[in-house]
Amino acid sequence: MYGKKRIYIGMLTALAAVVMAIYLMLMYIIASHRINLYYYMLIGIFLVLTIFIAVLMMGTLALVLSLMEKRPIRALSGFMFFALNTIYPEILFFGGLLGIDKDKIMRSYAEINDNLVASRNIRVLPSDILILLPHCLQRSSCTQRITTDINNCKRCGKCDICALIGIADRYGVNITVATGGTLARKAVKTYKPKAIVAVACERDLTSGIQDVNSIPVLGIVNMRPEGPCFNTRVDVNLVENAVKNFIDGGESK
Ligand code: SF4
Repeated sequence: MYGKKRIYIGMLTALAAVVMAIYLMLMYIIASHRINLYYYMLIGIFLVLTIFIAVLMMGTLALVLSLMEKRPIRALSGFMFFALNTIYPEILFFGGLLGIDKDKIMRSYAEINDNLVASRNIRVLPSDILILLPHCLQRSSCTQRITTDINNCKRCGKCDICALIGIADRYGVNITVATGGTLARKAVKTYKPKAIVAVACERDLTSGIQDVNSIPVLGIVNMRPEGPCFNTRVDVNLVENAVKNFIDGGESK
C-alpha cells in the first residue's frame, strides 16, 4: 500500500529525542544543584518526563516490532495504542513545527493502522462488513441521490461508485455513502459492522479510524485528480482486497 510507515515512526522517534534532550538538560540542572528554589518542581517534571519517555519508547518499539513481525504484540498493545492514537495530535503538531506535510503524516498513520489491522487476521461474515464511501466519489454531474440510497446509482460507469457497488454485490457486504463525519458515524450505528472498509481523504480517514476505535478499519486514501472533494477516484482493487482480507481472515495475502 502507498504512503510511508516510516514517517510516523520517524516522528515518534524524533519526539522522543526532543523530550530526551529536555530530560537530560533537567537532569544536569538537578545534578548540579544550580537552582534550589524550583528544585522539587524540577524533580516532579523530571519524573513525569521519565514516565513519558519510557511509554513513548515502548510504544514506538511495539509498533516497529508488530509491523516487522506482521502480528500485533498483544502484551504491549497499551503502549502501541499510546504511540498510535493518544499521542497522534502531538505528532501532527510536532510534524507541523518541522515543516512536514500533514497529509503525509496522516497517510503514514493510516498505512500503519492498515498493516496492524491486516496483521490481526480478523475474519468476519460478509454481512458484518461495511464499505463506507465519501460523497465526492460521485461524478459531480450525476443527479442520482446515492446518499439516500446507493442503489439509486444507474451504474453508468462514469465514476467508481459503479465498480464499488459491484464489489459489494459480489461479496455480499454492506455499502453506503456518507457526506461527512456525522453521517458516517450514523451509518456505523445503523449497520453495526464488525469491520469497516473506508475510503476517504487522509484527514477524514484518520479521524474516522480514531472515532470507531473498537471496530477494525482498513482505510484507503482516495485520489484527487481534480482537486479535493471533487470527482475523486479510488483504486477499486484496494477496496476489493480489503473486503477479501476481512472475509478470509487475511489468508488471501
Ligand atoms: S456510476 Fe453513474 S449513475 Fe452511478 S453515481 Fe456514478 S455517475 Fe452517477
